[in-house]
Amino acid sequence: MKQVVAIYPGSFDPPTNGHLDLIERGAKLFTELVVAVLRNSEKTALFTADERAEMLRECTRGLPNVRVESFEGLMVDFARGCKAQVVLRGVRAVSDYEYELQMAWMNRQLDSSLETVFMMPAGRYAYLSSKLVREIGSLGGKLDGLVPAQVEERLRHRLGVATPADK
Ligand code: ADP
Repeated sequence: MKQVVAIYPGSFDPPTNGHLDLIERGAKLFTELVVAVLRNSEKTALFTADERAEMLRECTRGLPNVRVESFEGLMVDFARGCKAQVVLRGVRAVSDYEYELQMAWMNRQLDSSLETVFMMPAGRYAYLSSKLVREIGSLGGKLDGLVPAQVEERLRHRLGVATPADK
């Protein structure tokens, strides 16, 4: 069978259960999956790229064909360096579609040998985003089921808010 290496690029600020759902699905489909944390947005991010990569490594420890890296610059250049043939992206609702399509077209323009593959998460993660998690977290809301426990702990620590149980 053909060996297919995929990269799954994103900000992951922070990683959510939606990202992990997609990583698990991707790990079943591809020979190797490289989760690629984007460094470009580092200045405005809540967590540094190293912290985001560390959280992803903790959460994907049980998946032997998944590796976590960080990168800056053009995604297609990083993909080439990984010898990846596929870019994995998630689509939740129709609202993701326009932006994702634009990115996929542009990436094809930059490197026509790279295929973008879209996958859907489980329905319960269809409205879950890192932005929403940061907002709920900063207001002290419950995040169980939305992010892994270690991510929730780091988030509360970073935001300086008590866990709902402490209130
Ligand atoms: P970006 O800043 O590139 O949008 P994200 O870290 O937010 O990065 O997301 C990376 C990828 O994961 C994107 O393709 C995004 O659509 C997808 N994604 C984000 N949240 C979810 C989710 N809940 N379910 C499925 N895919 C998701």
